[in-house]
Amino acid sequence: QDKLGTDSFRFFGLGGSNEVGRSCHILQYKGKTVMLDAGVHPAHQGIASLPFYDEFDLSKVDVLLISHFHLDHAASLPFVMQRTNFQGRVFMTHPTKAIYRWLLSDFVKVTNIGNDSSAGGDENLYTDEDLAESFDRIETVDYHSTIDVNGIKFTAYHAGHVLGAAMFQVEIAGLRILFTGDYSRELDRHLNSAEVPSLPSDILIVESTFGTATHEPRISKERKFTQMVHSTVSKGGRVLLPVFALGRAQEIMLILDEYWSQNAEELGGGQVPIFYASNLARKCMTVFQTYVNMMNDKIRKKFRDSQTNPFIFKNIAYLKNLDEFQDFGPSVMLASPGMLQNGLSRDLLEKWCPDEKNLVLITGYSVEGTMAKFLMLEPETIPAINNPDVTIPRRCQIEEISFAAHVDFRENLEFVEKIGAPNIILVHGESNPMGRLKSALLSNFSSLKGTENEVHVYNPKNCVPVDLEFKGVKIAK
Ligand SMILES: [Zn+2]
Repeated sequence: QDKLGTDSFRFFGLGGSNEVGRSCHILQYKGKTVMLDAGVHPAHQGIASLPFYDEFDLSKVDVLLISHFHLDHAASLPFVMQRTNFQGRVFMTHPTKAIYRWLLSDFVKVTNIGNDSSAGGDENLYTDEDLAESFDRIETVDYHSTIDVNGIKFTAYHAGHVLGAAMFQVEIAGLRILFTGDYSRELDRHLNSAEVPSLPSDILIVESTFGTATHEPRISKERKFTQMVHSTVSKGGRVLLPVFALGRAQEIMLILDEYWSQNAEELGGGQVPIFYASNLARKCMTVFQTYVNMMNDKIRKKFRDSQTNPFIFKNIAYLKNLDEFQDFGPSVMLASPGMLQNGLSRDLLEKWCPDEKNLVLITGYSVEGTMAKFLMLEPETIPAINNPDVTIPRRCQIEEISFAAHVDFRENLEFVEKIGAPNIILVHGESNPMGRLKSALLSNFSSLKGTENEVHVYNPKNCVPVDLEFKGVKIAK
């Protein structure tokens, strides 16, 4: 007797289960295999940053779907395509692919610089050539159009979060699975919020980043943010905004550029400059300027009415690196990477953190084990990146206001209820918030317990399968 016959559904997490980072999930049903996302873990380097690819035969994967371009969802894709026995087809949306190319070539550069040959030899996961070769084999999908690959059907829906982000509804032999990736339901300045697919789902795989926490309302959050930045520069301080080069950074820029225009007398005309420091700055802005038609009505209307592209900013200058930056007087600096692991944002942190007038304002989600997370503890000193034995005094202010664009508990619960799936698999959350979310969901659906509509919630660890049997499925005797 085969309890795990081909008629049972299996979920197997290779990364991003009970953690945030290296997202990668395997789905198997009726002999078909789908892989969702292929990320790296931002707190680790080299091979250690990968999902547990050794634990699964990647040659079995028919289709690999990438939800969005963030490194924890896409940065191990060139490794999978070029350095493993993977032979399947890869799909992502058009803006994701456009941004993926620049983002990952920057990732290769940054990780190569960060590699100290004395610290364990060549740890490069892949090269620029691997990236270029993999790029040509990635296929693109439009939102709301269904693709069929040998009986695996899938459709991309808007997920909010960042430009190009998608939720995928996968259908295999009548069984429907919805994967949210990272998603947001709040209407922001430029993105469509996540949508509910018209067809129901049997299984929902949903992120749990913020667990049972509640977000501050958008308006008061923005006000607090602009006031904090304004009061720091008024006192002659510098503001460091560590951001992931692309995605949420553009939302922050829309907020700051508007605020600077409203306070032009005091801040405008270069009196207090705003910089966007990234190797990718100009290339990335071109992608945003190109895909305005995929954004929400608000920003498209602004584009139509003013006849100027909303991503051409009046008050923000681009910096390719810090050599061209003259550090006199107050300024605001958006610099990547967002968790201060290395690169430009880390260099500026080390330069500015000894001065108590300065402010480091964290706007993204900070993963366990990164410098951004460590700073929240307001340490007396931080280790220098070039020599961990050297410590730098930390006197600057540290604040956190999240524009990370993940759902909070209320938004997540409302969405989960709308989807109405009887099986919920939680991913993309640290163990504690994920555990709290599981309890809250179970108690929310407790009235259905023992009925045929009972809702099952799973929070598996990496490499621990979840097996589900469905009614009407015959098990071989
Ligand atoms: Zn993301």
